[in-house]
Amino acid sequence: MSMDARTIRLVMALRRAGVTDTRVCGAIERIPRDLFVPHHFQDKAYENTALPIGCHQTLSAPIVVGMMTQALDVGERMKVLEIGTGSGYHAAVLSRLCRRVYSIERYRDLQKEAEQRFARLGLHNITTKVGDGTFGWPEQAPFERIVITAAANDVPPLLGNQLAIGGLMVLPIDDGGGQQRLWRVRRTVDGFDTDDMGEIRFVPLIAEPGL
Ligand code: SAM
Repeated sequence: MSMDARTIRLVMALRRAGVTDTRVCGAIERIPRDLFVPHHFQDKAYENTALPIGCHQTLSAPIVVGMMTQALDVGERMKVLEIGTGSGYHAAVLSRLCRRVYSIERYRDLQKEAEQRFARLGLHNITTKVGDGTFGWPEQAPFERIVITAAANDVPPLLGNQLAIGGLMVLPIDDGGGQQRLWRVRRTVDGFDTDDMGEIRFVPLIAEPGL
């Protein structure tokens, strides 16, 4: 995996915007974003912008991937669950930081394309499946970290139950009034502690089968 000038420029911009964790920046440097972007948006692959990926879905802007990954505080021995594989870019970044990523996508076409990209890049510690991610992946639980990459109304209860005690979940929350906030939720022995990390914008989490 080579690192080119566009990746270096992108990471410098992310650092200026607050992604200062060197492990996160290193992971972003190692994943070529152009491989996750459709052909006709190649010229925008290294801009700090969200891009369409088909099925009316988007690949989140790099700053969002960077801030969410930084908030997740992933350790190299951890098992991470991602809801919303999309293009596979965020899972690829996470895979450089932890032991294994499990990722669920509701659109089969997106999941298949993401799998092809992982194979091409030799990323062998990512497992994906098609389904409704709000049910989580009970066979693999508990997870030390869970990231939801589509906006929910609250912490999906089944996902909360699959988070290890002391584990963190990072997710965008729709407040119902047209605003989304990024939450970081820690599971404690008694329940959940929530940090509101500020405003953000995502496509909705949809608890129905995709196509
Ligand atoms: N992480 C992705 C990436 O790196 O390209 C971007 C994700 S995109 C903003 C949100 C994704 O969540 C979409 O691909 C959408 O189909 C998926 N999604 C929405 N609701 C879902 C659900 N209940 N279960 C699984 N995936 C879901």
